[in-house]
Amino acid sequence: MHLKSDHRIAPSKNAWATPGLLVAAALFAGHVHATKLDYTANLDADAETLALRICGDAGARLDLRSASRFVVSVEPAADAQGAGRIRLTLPANRCAIITTDLRAAGNADRFRLGRERGVYYRLAADQWLWRPRQLDPMSSLRFALPAGWSASVPWRADAGGTHRLGNSPGSWPALTVFGRFAVERVVVPGGELRLAMLPLGDADARAAMRDWLIESSRRYFAAAGGLPVASPQIFVAPLPGVRSAVPWGEVQRGGAPGVLLYVGAEAGADAWRGDWTLAHELAHLQHPYLGEHGRWLAEGLGSYHQNVWRARAGHMTRDEAWQKLLSGFARGRAVGPGEALASIGRGWGTTMRVYWSGAAFWFESDLALRAAGSSLDQVLQRYRGAGMRFDRRVEPGDFIAALDSLEPRGGLQRRYDEYLMLASFPTLREARTLLKLAAPDRWPDTLPDHPILHAIFQSNEAKP
Ligand SMILES: [Zn+2]
Repeated sequence: MHLKSDHRIAPSKNAWATPGLLVAAALFAGHVHATKLDYTANLDADAETLALRICGDAGARLDLRSASRFVVSVEPAADAQGAGRIRLTLPANRCAIITTDLRAAGNADRFRLGRERGVYYRLAADQWLWRPRQLDPMSSLRFALPAGWSASVPWRADAGGTHRLGNSPGSWPALTVFGRFAVERVVVPGGELRLAMLPLGDADARAAMRDWLIESSRRYFAAAGGLPVASPQIFVAPLPGVRSAVPWGEVQRGGAPGVLLYVGAEAGADAWRGDWTLAHELAHLQHPYLGEHGRWLAEGLGSYHQNVWRARAGHMTRDEAWQKLLSGFARGRAVGPGEALASIGRGWGTTMRVYWSGAAFWFESDLALRAAGSSLDQVLQRYRGAGMRFDRRVEPGDFIAALDSLEPRGGLQRRYDEYLMLASFPTLREARTLLKLAAPDRWPDTLPDHPILHAIFQSNEAKP
């Protein structure tokens, strides 16, 4: 299944031991003391270990479950260890050093992309970055890496190379990759990408992949009003011998939003440009994390823009983009009626209805906004200009209310309320009325001659 997730965020685990009455009282008062810690991660390529030094003024309790099997040593000794769990109390004004076995952690990767000795290690942050339950956002992280190695991580660094861990929940996934590659700062409209590519396979294929990614990103963001996130992590794993263009892509939001792409090295530039994954994942940077109930909005925004952006970039014709939008609607419609969008759960049977109902919502919203003299691009741009929060979940209703208040003439709030109640695929009646078209299953398979549709799908190829 070729599905792109923006939703692989586990619900926060609530199973941490409560350290005493003081914290319990603070919890009751709605405030938990956050510990400021300073981390240094030292990678030893010969020993294949990552030694994490943790220091703090105030002391902390660290409790590690998921990755405790990769821990080779803890200094000072852990309070408790065993049964897949380690607990460590860090006294005030002291440091601890926790060493992780990168070989074991890398070998555990189910895609066999966890390590290559002397070349790279790719692992989730929670496999080595021990955190207390509440971490002060100013907590710092520095890396000490072998000569010629870099780190691709979601956290931005200051000029001195210190990362701030920020406010996003510790349970949100974050990918960390260390290896013999450079992190390249790629200028795109509105900002820069921190692009890292694993040094796998043929160097010519990697160069072509880099060209495709940079050229595409620049075109997409030029048409969408600029990069929505400051300096995001973009991680690319070229897959030698793989002919499928982009077998997997996703956005992870721990630390800061980052885009992860797994790209078939044998596919070639035409196939990469023909694939929707890059545009879809980059489009996810335009919205905050909207939770399970906002999944249809999030995936809808990606699914709508993956077609619009590629037409604008000249990677396919306007007619092709239109056909892909229509066939998406058809796949959504084919699912048939079920639960209302407001309450629909995660399930393979309903995925297409979730994605393409969302795409229909944004399509109808874009039409209405443009009929009123604005556009979805403009409203999203104003939303992020007002300070989009990437470090917390935003309720989907709050997201829509904010967009609606920026341009009430687009009718987003009213349309959202209607879509929430839909137990089957949207009728697209608004779009039909505005475009003077028949029922959507009889829409022409070339782009209808309407100035709003021309404007949406207009190529900006001349000015990348
Ligand atoms: Zn998605």
